[in-house]
Amino acid sequence: MIKEEDFKYCPGCGSTFNPLKENVLICSVCELHYYINPKPANAVMIENDKNEILFVERAFNPKKGMLDLPGGFLNINESVEESLTREIREELGITIAEFTYVNSFSDEYEHGGVSSRSICVLFRCKLPDHAVLTPADDVSDYRFYSKDHIPYDEMAFDGMKEAVRRYLHNNH
Ligand SMILES: [Zn+2]
Repeated sequence: MIKEEDFKYCPGCGSTFNPLKENVLICSVCELHYYINPKPANAVMIENDKNEILFVERAFNPKKGMLDLPGGFLNINESVEESLTREIREELGITIAEFTYVNSFSDEYEHGGVSSRSICVLFRCKLPDHAVLTPADDVSDYRFYSKDHIPYDEMAFDGMKEAVRRYLHNNH
């Protein structure tokens, strides 16, 4: 798998990049600067009235079949909040209105054979009253877990695992 920082060729002129310097690849000919930054993403801990947290099962690779929190990557021109609302509508068929910031964490994620870093903004919210959950899109199923029985070993991503663990340890 290719890491973003291992990209060899300038997307502007096709010449070779100089070796990575801190977080930027600089073209040896046209001096285009290609910055290696984390990709922004979002996730949310949705709690039901028993204070259990909703986890989803990933329908596709990477990490197909493993547990994740609902959420995803931002589209171009979306805010984090708009993206989160859209992702939850797509993945679960519900609209969340009020959510609060929890923390943020970095992770590693593979997109089409390229490995890059993500920076995920984690939120929490209440499951809306009378919500009818309909798993769709890149989600094949969902389950609620009590905060004492979070299946950390089944979670797809290490950064998220630690962020959830840290939050529940401090707020439980
Ligand atoms: Zn160039």
